[in-house]
Amino acid sequence: MLVRVLEFFKSIPPKKCAECGKEIEEQHECYGNKCNDCLGVIYHH
Ligand SMILES: [Zn+2]
Repeated sequence: MLVRVLEFFKSIPPKKCAECGKEIEEQHECYGNKCNDCLGVIYHH
C-alpha cells in the first residue's frame, strides 16, 4: 500500500504554469499553478 502511494506521487507530471505554460520547479503548493513570473505580474497589478 505504501509503495502504491509513492508510485502515485512519482507519476505526477511536473507542474506547469497555467498562465505561460512554463514548468514550475519546487514551489509552495499554496501558490497554485502559476510560476514566479506570472505571480509577480499578479502581485504588481
Ligand atoms: Zn507563468
